[in-house]
Amino acid sequence: MEPNRMCMVCRERKSKAELLRIVRVKGESPKLDPNQNISGRGMYLCKSSECLSQAKRRRVIERAFGCADDGGVYERLETELER
Ligand SMILES: [Zn+2]
Repeated sequence: MEPNRMCMVCRERKSKAELLRIVRVKGESPKLDPNQNISGRGMYLCKSSECLSQAKRRRVIERAFGCADDGGVYERLETELER
């Protein structure tokens, strides 16, 4: 069984296929991990515009990683959702 992951916004547990993984590689700003295989600290958000806009408003990614978003990670996630 695939282990379930938790969305950092709504705290629901879902399978990896239903979530976006954001990774922070040491020394870099947070970024989308489209294939969910980049090593580094990871966190998950639902593939929903609701969770994404809440994450953006509450700066969930920056807070989870304790760093600034210099790479436009929310915009990148929005683009990913629109695909
Ligand atoms: Zn969610």
